[in-house]
Amino acid sequence: MATKRYQQKIIVLGDSGVGKTSLLNRYVRQEFSQNYRATIGADFLSKEITVDDRHISLQLWDTAGQERFQSLGMAFYRGADCCLLVYDMTNLKSFQSLANWRDEFLKQSSPNDPATFPFIVLGNKSDLVNERVVSEAMAQQWAKENDLILIEVSAKEGKSVEEGFQEGARKAMKRE
Ligand code: GDP
Ligand code: MG
Repeated sequence: MATKRYQQKIIVLGDSGVGKTSLLNRYVRQEFSQNYRATIGADFLSKEITVDDRHISLQLWDTAGQERFQSLGMAFYRGADCCLLVYDMTNLKSFQSLANWRDEFLKQSSPNDPATFPFIVLGNKSDLVNERVVSEAMAQQWAKENDLILIEVSAKEGKSVEEGFQEGARKAMKRE
């Protein structure tokens, strides 16, 4: 039985441009910027939350552009409690990359529980309704086949962003 931990490391993966940094900025700072690529400037952002009456200190890890080369280094993956897999619903390729990101995560972090490790899939840019190419039905089917929770979100509008991260923290908590 693992000791109770009140700190969680959550890492955010997905192709470049899907909105990983924007989602973190929305969640942690309630900010969104259309015009420039916001950089976090640190290895991770912190946020204190409460899930089911438990106080948790989240460490949210973002990439700094190295995801283009899929070379994020061991420190990035080490000890992750949850992984958020992000795609852009206006970009089919980013959706097709999800399985690769999941496999890369499992390979690099080699958790004790690969079959049940908590992943949450976030389909970002739900505000761009007219540009959508990944339907919700198609995404949900893939998620179901892989036994993953999928939530459609918008970093721009803030829609369901809180829910997505909260769900990740809840799943990570159950893992202990
Ligand atoms: P990252 O490379 O995955 O970190 O992606 P960024 O967070 O840098 O976002 C890439 C681009 O997509 C930026 O121009 C963002 O402003 C834009 N973007 C991110 N999230 C959203 C969203 O929810 N809606 C819209 N319309 N644009 C978004
Ligand atoms: Mg980024």
